[in-house]
Amino acid sequence: MVAAQEKEHLVIFTDRPDDLPWDIEVDVLVIGTGGCGLIASLAAAQKGVQVFLVEKEKTAGGNTSLSQAMVPAAGTRFQKEAGIEDSVELMTQDILHKNSNGSDPELTRHVAQESPKLVEWLNDSLGIRLDLVTEFIYPGHSQYRIHANRTKKGAHLVNDLLQAAARYENIDIAYNAPARRLIANRKDGAVLGAEVEIEGVGKNLARAKKVILALNGFGANREMLAKYIPEMKDAYYFGHEGNTGEGILWGEALGAALDCMGAYQAHGSVAHPHGTLLTYVTVSMGAYHVNLDGKRFVNEYHGYSEHALDVLAQKEGVAIAVFDDRIYRTVQDYEDFQQCIRMGAIRKFDSIRDLAASFRLPVEDTVATHEAFLKAARGEAKDPLGRREFGKPLEPPLYGAKVTGALFHTQGGLKVNKRAQIIRKDGTPIPNLFAGGGTAAGFSGKAGPAGYLSANGLLAALVLGKIAGEAAGEACGQGS
Ligand SMILES: Cc1cc2nc3c(=O)[nH]c(=O)nc-3n(C[C@H](O)[C@H](O)[C@H](O)COP(=O)(O)OP(=O)(O)OC[C@H]3O[C@@H](n4cnc5c(N)ncnc54)[C@H](O)[C@@H]3O)c2cc1C
Repeated sequence: MVAAQEKEHLVIFTDRPDDLPWDIEVDVLVIGTGGCGLIASLAAAQKGVQVFLVEKEKTAGGNTSLSQAMVPAAGTRFQKEAGIEDSVELMTQDILHKNSNGSDPELTRHVAQESPKLVEWLNDSLGIRLDLVTEFIYPGHSQYRIHANRTKKGAHLVNDLLQAAARYENIDIAYNAPARRLIANRKDGAVLGAEVEIEGVGKNLARAKKVILALNGFGANREMLAKYIPEMKDAYYFGHEGNTGEGILWGEALGAALDCMGAYQAHGSVAHPHGTLLTYVTVSMGAYHVNLDGKRFVNEYHGYSEHALDVLAQKEGVAIAVFDDRIYRTVQDYEDFQQCIRMGAIRKFDSIRDLAASFRLPVEDTVATHEAFLKAARGEAKDPLGRREFGKPLEPPLYGAKVTGALFHTQGGLKVNKRAQIIRKDGTPIPNLFAGGGTAAGFSGKAGPAGYLSANGLLAALVLGKIAGEAAGEACGQGS
């Protein structure tokens, strides 16, 4: 519950909208230039309405820029061309299985159903190429359904989206322009626009027929983390600093229902102390992790999000990732991995003995761990930690990298319906208000990191962004 005077910090309530000194009038106001906001803007612009997109930072992209641009979709023509049989049902099942039925099943199914349309629209309508990734499969997905750009880099996806937006005369973008408060009708809570502080211009009242909240979640807000995800309040935050949670607070002040506020995505493969992402594809292809005692501590393959807590529970909160040349060559073109190479996070060795000595691990224990892992990988023994997916057994030369666990983004937020309208506890939509991405409740369960199926983040950002943009654009035309 938000106290009355606190609400005034979050929302300007008015009884007489026409009397407010509006500075700008648009059809659709989109707040946040990550994947959700850019896609929503493009989808709304294609409906012929005037879009104003505001971003509080000096550049676009948010967490989407930091991401690996991996987007899940079931039943795309790219899958069909590759002979992959997938379905909306299977993808829905995979998401609900991973999150222990912790997301709205109807909305989950709807998003899965819209996912192939998103990927094909990006390719066909916007000319943004995403290909099916077939070199590895992430745990929890029962089919190859991740689509990504060539570099596996979100910053490139954001650049492509910005270039697409530049082709639309009906999209204007303002940077260094944080939205400070929503503006709403006191009587029915209908949203009328937002107060936006534009650098060099000052505070502006932007009137809009529809507002889309695409500000992501609260990964960079320690107070909200302490309230909703206390176990991560002091964790290393690897996401974007702009994600300070105000979109969720505005929605809450207008009576929106919140859901899944304890859920989040973390990652157990952040190179340490370099702070660069050693992609989890290493594990998917056969890498393992040892702690500073030279011992494995968990089945690394169970999922990168929950693996963060496993790594953080080890001595000094770190582990050493061990992989080989086959894996190195597969991921060496990934931009994040390149960055790890450039920063010296990855070391090469002729033997596991040399690797252990270099990372100051107990040599004999590490050698024993390595040999036991190889036996399991060759199928000669059962893995005592229950791992069954090994790729090919590792072969020298070996590579090692010290990794730690980090918080990537939060997954809880404002409840939305199938049109991405933000809904109240009674299920009725707050008039004129939409959300997607990390501002909306996600698909990763009620609490903790384990319900996150890989790529749930961009699923919520891009698919809900497209739904929100289309719905808002259409509604402007209909005057509703
Ligand atoms: C390293 C890393 C790798 C990842 N890889 C993947 C992946 O491969 N696949 C996947 O599915 N997910 C991935 N994720 C998660 C994914 O990046 C996010 O879930 C997704 O990008 C969220 O998109 P968004 O549009 O909701 O938010 P963002 O992309 O974070 O955009 C929100 C924007 O809103 C702006 N903003 C905030 N407040 C205001 C305000 N008051 N006024 C104006 N602007 C505001 C922010 O500055 C930001 O630019 C990854 C995350 C990280 C950190």
